Amino acid sequence: MILDGKCPSGPLAEKWDKYQREMRLISPANKRKYKIIVVGTGLAGASAVATLGELGYNIEAFCFQDSPRRGHSIAAQGGINAAKNYPNDGDSIYRLFYDTIKGGDFRSREANVYRLATVSNNIMDQCVAQGVPFARDYAGYLENRSFGGGLVSRTFYARGQTGQQLLLGAYGALSRQVNAGTVRLHPRSEMLDLVVVNGSAKGIIVRDLITGKIESYAGDAVCLCTGGYSNVFCLSTNAMGSNVTATYRAYKKGAFFANPCFTQIHPTCIPVSGEHQSKLTLMSESLRNDGRVWVPKNKGDNRQPNEISEDERDYFLERKYPSYGNLTPRDIASRAAKEVCDDGFGVGPGGYGVYLDFADAINRLGEQKMREMYGNLFEMYEKITGENAYKKPMRIYPAPHYTMGGLWVDYNLQSSIPGLFVLGEANFSDHGANRLGASALMQGLADGYFIIPCTIAGYLAGTEPGKINTGHSEFKKSAEDVSSLTKKFLSINGGKTVSEFHRKLGKIMWDNVGMSRSEESLKKALKLIPELRAEFMENVRVPGSGAELNQELEKAGRTADFLEFAELMAYDALHRNESCGGHFRVEHQMPDGEAKRDDENFSYAAAWEFKGIGKEPELHKEPLAFEDIEPEIRSYK
Ligand SMILES: Cc1cc2nc3c(=O)[nH]c(=O)nc-3n(C[C@H](O)[C@H](O)[C@H](O)COP(=O)(O)OP(=O)(O)OC[C@H]3O[C@@H](n4cnc5c(N)ncnc54)[C@H](O)[C@@H]3O)c2cc1C
Repeated sequence: MILDGKCPSGPLAEKWDKYQREMRLISPANKRKYKIIVVGTGLAGASAVATLGELGYNIEAFCFQDSPRRGHSIAAQGGINAAKNYPNDGDSIYRLFYDTIKGGDFRSREANVYRLATVSNNIMDQCVAQGVPFARDYAGYLENRSFGGGLVSRTFYARGQTGQQLLLGAYGALSRQVNAGTVRLHPRSEMLDLVVVNGSAKGIIVRDLITGKIESYAGDAVCLCTGGYSNVFCLSTNAMGSNVTATYRAYKKGAFFANPCFTQIHPTCIPVSGEHQSKLTLMSESLRNDGRVWVPKNKGDNRQPNEISEDERDYFLERKYPSYGNLTPRDIASRAAKEVCDDGFGVGPGGYGVYLDFADAINRLGEQKMREMYGNLFEMYEKITGENAYKKPMRIYPAPHYTMGGLWVDYNLQSSIPGLFVLGEANFSDHGANRLGASALMQGLADGYFIIPCTIAGYLAGTEPGKINTGHSEFKKSAEDVSSLTKKFLSINGGKTVSEFHRKLGKIMWDNVGMSRSEESLKKALKLIPELRAEFMENVRVPGSGAELNQELEKAGRTADFLEFAELMAYDALHRNESCGGHFRVEHQMPDGEAKRDDENFSYAAAWEFKGIGKEPELHKEPLAFEDIEPEIRSYK
């Protein structure tokens, strides 16, 4: 099937305006007749809930944490992009659009990315009005810094806690709606199925994580804002609870999953330190504004970094990419770090690390200024490694961080199931094969504050409110399926913990579907994943019962979904016989080792349809039509 992204016609810069001019509206009196279910209250979900509530819709909002304030978005450190051009350094909406689409290696939809760049400026106005404490310069103006893949400074930040401050802003707006009675909040609730009635999304099945009760909720539309799936690699920079369950179960109900193999490995993370580690910690990309990445020029040089003189150091990013230097995009910086380590130049235990050195910046700006900009990141680094990065370079290594793939959505953010909308990291929409730093917060908030409130009206205007309730047989069937799966996990009573399986899956994925992939490694993964899945269903041990708080049971469901989803990722990576962005197939590289795209054969979004567990999914394509730009060979040299 050829998929239609439903982008408005007309000149690129006018598409969004035209869309808004022509879209169907719902009167304020009628809005309150509609119920919208929003799953996820991180930045994408909280901003959507707040705005849809403000508009007068009835919202049922769900998250598995005890409060929306604990959504994974809170972890975001470095900043959020917007095309305000306050530093007057040549930025514009067009430049943000172009950097983003080039950063994604020309594998995203032109019209979406242009809309994102346009809306970026509204986001800043919104968040400043909410009182988000962005960094300001001496005169009181909002401060900017640079992020990878751009030659301008367009990243707004609140020290190294931008996500937290933005989420507090969105949470304040959401709470206001709870108080106003438009939003009903369901924390500690996990969506375990999507209910589809006559082809349209009409509700969800949820497990109350405190009581274990399986509950049904009906609505006129469902929005999934459930984040990304980096934890398929087990070790990632994501919160440990982040998972694929909501989007994967919607996929099993008919929503297409797009570009699942587009995963981002972030270059600046604290290296793995041992077998029993459960999480990796990011050191924000913002540090590459002032940190210089290097390794010793001599293989196996294990002297202390301060004993290695300047001419014995290889500042490999500055050497290879003189224009962008340490601020090359993540996919490129990660591959370069892996390459020097694979070649034996890495530092630290096992040689899996490179230095991120702040000595020059400290000499230039002084330690106090560094503390103001990055203090909490340096503290975090010291707490974890015991090393003081003001005195000694940080050691960093790439780690799974973000997923560009997600449920396929059209320009309306509507999935292939009518009435199912997908926002934030959970959708595939705007970042192509590689996301630029500080663009995820921008996208999540664009989707939630500005896009969904507009596009969902077009759908609801053609839908009779409240037509389906939880008495419908599809709700009963879904609830029974969820209950029996829960019982199944509890009854296996095998010999291995859920975490053992998750770790094993993570290793299969990192080794075979990770930073570089080959036909051979992907075929190996496609053999190993089903074997591990079968073993899980026979030998996992989930203690406790289903009628209480049982975190092992929660993990079992999420890991079971990862064990199926991993196969989909491998299929996608195997079929995409090219390298682009974060998807690096070793068979497809330029003579200098850069990714080699194949626009003739792969300039499309790959949207997969579920065909059964263990069965090959069916591929549908959305061709990418570039009307305003000419995809070029991506170079940061
Ligand atoms: C360490 C780190 C630093 C980062 N720094 C930056 C940065 O500086 N700038 C930037 O732009 N991006 C950054 N990112 C990326 C960015 O933080 C995320 O992409 C973004 O916050 C995702 O927001 P979201 O709302 O889509 O999802 P999330 O914040 O992950 O929220 C998901 C929500 O869905 C809920 N949920 C999930 N599944 C279910 C279910 N089955 N049932 C019920 N609820 C469910 C959760 O409870 C949660 O409320 C960073 C990421 C990490 C890991």
